[in-house]
Amino acid sequence: MTVEPATARRLDGAAAAADIRARIRPRVEAFTARAGRAPKLGILLAGNDPGSEIYVRNKMKNSAELGMDSDLRRLTESASLADALAIVREFNDSDAHDGILVQSPLPAGMGSDAEQQVFDAIAPGKDVDGFNPANVGRLVQKRPALAPCTPSGIMDLLDREKIAISGARAVVIGRSDIVGKPMAMLLLHRNATVTICHSRTVNLPAVAASADILVAAIGRAAFVTRDFVKPGATVIDVGMNRLDDREQVEALFGAGSRKLAAFDKRGSVVTGDVHPEVTSVAGALTPVPGGVGPLTIAMLLANTVRAAEDRLAG
Ligand code: NAP
Repeated sequence: MTVEPATARRLDGAAAAADIRARIRPRVEAFTARAGRAPKLGILLAGNDPGSEIYVRNKMKNSAELGMDSDLRRLTESASLADALAIVREFNDSDAHDGILVQSPLPAGMGSDAEQQVFDAIAPGKDVDGFNPANVGRLVQKRPALAPCTPSGIMDLLDREKIAISGARAVVIGRSDIVGKPMAMLLLHRNATVTICHSRTVNLPAVAASADILVAAIGRAAFVTRDFVKPGATVIDVGMNRLDDREQVEALFGAGSRKLAAFDKRGSVVTGDVHPEVTSVAGALTPVPGGVGPLTIAMLLANTVRAAEDRLAG
């Protein structure tokens, strides 16, 4: 008798995102009926980053599909930090804008602390990315706050998939302000025992392998191999890494794989931080693409509706 290798349950981020959107839709309708206008997201896009163009287009398309408005302001690559701050102030002061999104990265010419300054300037009540220090502080204190979209979406997915969080050991690899740190905080608030790892963590695979819930937010393709994963663990792959080397794609996914076929069609593929071999060890795993990515946009819309409702309620 041949024994098939185990395959982790696929955690479908696209389906979870559709659920989130379905929950938002009636709230958009109710807000629109009461306010006489749709919730509106102000977006600042500065520079020529091709990835940012795609992200912004998707965010606008998704908000329009839910009956929400968006207002895109563009700045050129050579625009100054003062130009960006002026647009943020205009959005802050506007009665018609409920949420503000500044697409990262800002052009390098704006200076190394430009994003920090821009996030600091966003009115906390309109800070739908949850990056303003007021919202970060409120999140840490477990007070109601607009929380960063990617980790909020992951929490929604874990609940939807009935993954036990309270009492679980959770390991988050990555300590960025947008993913790693808020992820750890949200898991902690739900009574997980949380460890945050980073590039200086000693014996990382062993630490990661203690996790019932392992979140990889690193930005290195296929970095998390099977030795990082406790058998049966839930693995959340946040990484989005573009591969444009055919040999690397073939080595990772195999000669007859769908990824390689996609590469041959498009000349590149996107893959996560988790190695494909992890599917034979983990109990549940998010795919890339189709895992965390769709959740992030759905949560951005959820935060925008929430900001709009809170403003209407005064
Ligand atoms: P980031 O700011 O670059 O942070 C990466 C983190 O990984 C850092 O804390 C870094 O540690 C850690 N790291 C790097 N190399 C490591 C190593 N060898 N061992 C252990 N830790 C290591 O990245 P980010 O913004 O959090 O994003 C992470 C990934 O998620 C990226 O691929 C990004 O594209 C993706 N992402 C996806 C979504 C989505 O919607 N799907 C949203 C956001 C981000 P140090 O702090 O020590 O340097």
